[in-house]
Amino acid sequence: ASTAYATLNNGVKMPWLGLGVYKAEDGAEVEQAVIKAIEAGYRSIDTAAVYYNEEGVGSAIKKSGVAREELFITTKVWNDDQGYESALRAFDQSMNKLGLDVLDLYLVHWPVEGKFKDTWKALETLYKAGKVRAIGVSNFNVTHLEELLKTAEIKPMVNQIEFHPYLLQEDLRKYCKEQGIQVEAWRPLTKGDIFSNPTVQEIANAHNKTPAQVLLRWNIEHEVVTIPKSVTESRIIENSQIFDFELTQEEIRKLDELNEDKRYGPDPETFDF
Ligand code: NAD
Repeated sequence: ASTAYATLNNGVKMPWLGLGVYKAEDGAEVEQAVIKAIEAGYRSIDTAAVYYNEEGVGSAIKKSGVAREELFITTKVWNDDQGYESALRAFDQSMNKLGLDVLDLYLVHWPVEGKFKDTWKALETLYKAGKVRAIGVSNFNVTHLEELLKTAEIKPMVNQIEFHPYLLQEDLRKYCKEQGIQVEAWRPLTKGDIFSNPTVQEIANAHNKTPAQVLLRWNIEHEVVTIPKSVTESRIIENSQIFDFELTQEEIRKLDELNEDKRYGPDPETFDF
């Protein structure tokens, strides 16, 4: 089933699999994708203010007919809105668009220097007020987390980072594990770039699975929550069929060895937006 759950450090259960909706267009496109995903058994949706599709996600949630408490909805505060008061305002705007009273997970999208600690205070306020069930960060390296933890009252429950076999993130994952911070993968499929890799293909053939399914299963084997994106029904279904097989230790090792410390997205140390 696609409703297997990770348990966050505050006891909240978060599905191992979710639908990512970056670049899904607001309106019919994102709405259909979310509805098809929920029909396929997904219970978690990952959006962000900066994806400009929270309204479509919200209307899909209402149309899905699935009880609100069964769903796990994530959104993120964008860089321009970082700081205490502005993050609180951004949260209200996102909630209005989503049409929700309580959010499941609110993330600081990027570690904006000089601001992310104040942003975090706003998330702590929202959490203590019961407006969000879990709070976390995204694109935080070990140094960002160390800085945050110096003053944080509440430890992040999640760190959402770029993760795939070309970017193994070993030190960061180890640090998060020690701190009880659940790692979540973005760009888990490298948007398909890694599908043609012979090692990925060989493992896929051995299991009668697709490269996408192998990459997502590899996330699960590493205890990393994963949120592949697709707006195509057949792929949405395909990406959910990852709980009926396991990779061997040898296969996991072979995939790990593909690491090149290669990023498709911006580097959290040097991003400038
Ligand atoms: P992804 O690795 O999930 O790739 C998605 C693309 O891969 C699709 O658009 C499609 O072209 C292709 N694809 C998907 N399933 C396929 C299949 N079964 N067969 C063949 N091709 C397939 O990339 P992503 O969308 O960048 O990442 C996933 C999610 O992570 C995003 O939608 C978003 O929610 C989140 N994200 C977060 C951040 C962040 O800074 N926190 C950054 C990027 C993405």
